[in-house]
Amino acid sequence: MKLSFHGGAREVTGACYLLEAAEQKFLIDCGLFQGCDVCSDMNERPFKFDSKSINAVFVTHAHVDHVGRIPKLVKHGFSGVIYSTPPTKDLARHLLEDALSLSERQNNRLYAEEDLEKAFRIWRTVSYGEKIALNGAEIIFHDAGHILGSSLIEINAEGKKFLFSGDLGNVPSVLLPPPAKVGGVEYLVVESAYGNREHEAPAERTLQLERAMEDVASRRGTLLIPAFATERTQDLLFLINEMVNFKRVPEMPVFVDSPLASRVTSVYEEYPAYYGQGIQDLYLKHPNLFKFKKLKFTESVEESKAINDVSPPKVVIAGSGMMQGGRILHHARRYLRDKNSILMVVGYQASGSLGRRLLDGARNVKIFKEDVAVSAEIRKINGFSAHADSSQLFSFVSPMRDTLKRVFVVQGESSQALHFMQEIRDRLGIQSDAPLLGDEFEV
Ligand SMILES: [Zn+2]
Repeated sequence: MKLSFHGGAREVTGACYLLEAAEQKFLIDCGLFQGCDVCSDMNERPFKFDSKSINAVFVTHAHVDHVGRIPKLVKHGFSGVIYSTPPTKDLARHLLEDALSLSERQNNRLYAEEDLEKAFRIWRTVSYGEKIALNGAEIIFHDAGHILGSSLIEINAEGKKFLFSGDLGNVPSVLLPPPAKVGGVEYLVVESAYGNREHEAPAERTLQLERAMEDVASRRGTLLIPAFATERTQDLLFLINEMVNFKRVPEMPVFVDSPLASRVTSVYEEYPAYYGQGIQDLYLKHPNLFKFKKLKFTESVEESKAINDVSPPKVVIAGSGMMQGGRILHHARRYLRDKNSILMVVGYQASGSLGRRLLDGARNVKIFKEDVAVSAEIRKINGFSAHADSSQLFSFVSPMRDTLKRVFVVQGESSQALHFMQEIRDRLGIQSDAPLLGDEFEV
């Protein structure tokens, strides 16, 4: 059997793994490379395998760095079956359509609308625990607790058991259960985005959000939150809803100024069975987990502009999460100048992004070619990460120590992947590698 690495190798993005087993070729994820200078070149480079020869694609979750090259695979002749959970399929449709319009805008066409449409025609859905039998191979999806519908993928073939982690959730997640435990795993492909970093305690995240809302209320300022459309926005809405409900914060208008985040929130509302147990119980009593009185989802540009006319205090949640584009920039241009306002960073900010520069203390930034003097307060909450941190990653792997024969550490920058690989070798005594792009292993 052969396992090869076509992305996610010593880098966070581009997840794409080829397992040749039981006389078939399976791809696990087929994601876009994102956030680097050479990423568009890497995305355009031909696959090292023949797309036509792939029998099936198993999708761990809907993030574009895990699904973004699927339409390209279809364009190059893939005609097998794509498998994922139902929420992954629905979320992927919104996220891929958004990615397509972005790439169209950048004149960087990897694939056409029709390839995207075809991908969804050959895309089947499976539930957690359901067995897929394919000519002697058996595949089972388990909950990964990272975003709605995210999965660990177990593949049994030729008497061997493989597990692909996709991205692993941060425990406790605001909305989702912890990753499932899978027994008997012999070959593990595991993520390492935070292979050498720890998150702050989860109670801290709620407290800091609460404090920021209280502060803008007393100063009559605006709380501006750049947020990723998937999971982060729903986490924030759920927590704000709870705080308003229990009167822990003053009521104020809250805007979600991102059409993508609105669509993603609708998908979250459709699948309560995928929430963690406590959230499911709550849902039965209060079905509007993400909606409350003063919340408004803004669709049109006019509605977005009209947010300016609403007098503070108010909260504006908008994309993009790293402030590299999107409606957040219009709000940043206005409110960064206001000393009563707070910009709250709740997610990872790549170096070079506007979010990172502000966190690093920039007092002057350029937005739409305009000089903006930064008077607003810049704050950061670390605990909203949807990824397991280094001790959580270790706790995921260590219960499998008795059966594991080999571990492949992926989806982390070199420093993170190598650190986690070494930890598995030293503390568990298991053969472990951090593959490079294109590496191939006989297993
Ligand atoms: Zn992810």
